[in-house]
Amino acid sequence: MRQSALFISHGSPMNIIEDNPYTRSLKELGKRLPKPQSILILSAHWATNGSKVSIVDKPETIHDFYGFPDSLYDIHYDAAGEMNASVLLAHLTHALIDRRHGLDHGAWSVLVHLFPDHDIPVFQLSIDLTKPASWHYELGKILSKLRDDGIMVIGSGNVTHNLGDIDRNRDAAVAVWAKEFDDTFADAILNDHQKIISFDLPYFAHAHPTLEHYLPILPILGSQNDDEKLTTVYEGFQHGTLSMRCFQIG
Ligand code: ZN
Repeated sequence: MRQSALFISHGSPMNIIEDNPYTRSLKELGKRLPKPQSILILSAHWATNGSKVSIVDKPETIHDFYGFPDSLYDIHYDAAGEMNASVLLAHLTHALIDRRHGLDHGAWSVLVHLFPDHDIPVFQLSIDLTKPASWHYELGKILSKLRDDGIMVIGSGNVTHNLGDIDRNRDAAVAVWAKEFDDTFADAILNDHQKIISFDLPYFAHAHPTLEHYLPILPILGSQNDDEKLTTVYEGFQHGTLSMRCFQIG
């Protein structure tokens, strides 16, 4: 059965342990989704020069964040790796095989809510910082084939991401620029993917001073078939400027 593709905005690592409208929506989404055979994640926190696929028997939980409460470092996501589809993906994309990379927090911070039973094999494809946005969008065609084989594909980043312009208060009022960016983005993912590919969105350079949280959006959109619906599964902001918008295809 063809599996969905998801884009999940992950926000602060505090979402790993917090109960809030965003984390509750991920838990509910996970319950609605048919169980995939395995999960492929493209995370902002595995961005490399050149593509890499993780082929690891038991991926370790990587705590790649600093200055957060101790309890966050005690959490592990103990899913198995995926040893077959990962080899196929490396072949299809000409990506290098990486036998060390476990699960970075862009991956496991969303999995703890979506699939709390740790019972689905997980592997990752890195974001290739040497390639343009159009390449990341085209990559979606290969990911679409994996979806036909029962593999769920998840992009994990943020619709807006400027850590130099966030409010410490999680529930701070939303900044005008972030709202305008998010509104235009919400329309473009439904009606005009070219706008997403060419960064034709208001305040783009401010919303994404670096691209690693934006690029995971593109392969998810690129995996959409003509007859598939795109559904918003969460919209809202944290810390005044972080759009936590999440969407599902198929
Ligand atoms: Zn992040």
